Amino acid sequence: SAKTDGGDRLAFYCEGMEERSRSRASIALDLKSAIQNGELELYYQPQNDTRTRSLKGFEALVRWKHPERGLVSPTEFIPIAEETGLILDIGAWVLEEACTAAAAWPEQYSVAVNVSALQIAQSTLSQQVAAVLARTSLAPARLEIELTESGLIADQAHALKVVLDLKKLGVSVAMDDFGTGYSSLSTLQNFPFDKIKIDRGFIMSLTANKQSAAIVKSTILLGTSLKIPVLAEGVETEDQLSFLLQEGCQSVQGYLFGKPLRLDECIALMDSERGEKESVLPSVDLVA
Ligand code: C2E
Ligand code: MG
Ligand code: MG
Ligand code: MG
Repeated sequence: SAKTDGGDRLAFYCEGMEERSRSRASIALDLKSAIQNGELELYYQPQNDTRTRSLKGFEALVRWKHPERGLVSPTEFIPIAEETGLILDIGAWVLEEACTAAAAWPEQYSVAVNVSALQIAQSTLSQQVAAVLARTSLAPARLEIELTESGLIADQAHALKVVLDLKKLGVSVAMDDFGTGYSSLSTLQNFPFDKIKIDRGFIMSLTANKQSAAIVKSTILLGTSLKIPVLAEGVETEDQLSFLLQEGCQSVQGYLFGKPLRLDECIALMDSERGEKESVLPSVDLVA
């Protein structure tokens, strides 16, 4: 009967939910030991100049190589890490790892690091960043901290102090996932960001959807008026790139230029960029 069917469906749904929460609990447990066991790995996604297409730097994105589950996506484990407080340990590891890596790169390349709400709430973030910069000898201007609106709304006064302290160090601060929060414009008004990252969701539908195109265009214009450079996330096609170029978006990140890379692949990419530049410029021998 219909009633039984409904009951079955309900039971099925509940089992699914139970399994999900069981897996969340076991992920939380495993995550505790993931750092000590060396299961976390940082990947680096290229960020390029829209006009010249040249490589400018990388965003560090964390990956978890779970011994049984395989590769776990940060969209799955970062929220759990935030709920359990483990994000403080993970965030400290990511910062140290990213700055250590970038300090060994040619100095024109920057590194962007994502920071969660709890790391902002913890009053020691700027001291932590200062200590890592000192330890790794990374020039502060080569580090960018990416913040989402959710990381800034809990205690605005405190968050503003943290952002100002970071900027005093010479670190730049980017607003991540612009346009997806509750009040992107007031956040932009209240915090002195050095960059606006337009969320991938708007770029994805850019060429198919007039609304998205208008929003992207307006955001770039907004950045231009505020003198804040704009980066578009999730650029996958040449059509998206030419739209962004035409509208004056400064930089881009997305599969068109590269997926997140292992550190060795990212170093190889920087080497090949240098090779390309040298082959375009006449060598000293030829000119003489
Ligand atoms: P996010 O900071 O907005 O990072 C951009 C995400 O978009 C990355 O996903 C990246 O791989 C993906 N992406 C970039 N270009 C493209 C594209 O062209 N097409 C598609 N389909 N996707 C693209 P990922 O690495 O899975 O990270 C997801 C989110 O997890 C990040 O979003 C960030 O919020 C969080 N996350 C990652 N690493 C860290 C970290 O070290 N700390 C913190 N707190 N959060 C992190
Ligand atoms: Mg980010
Ligand atoms: Mg983003
Ligand atoms: Mg995002």
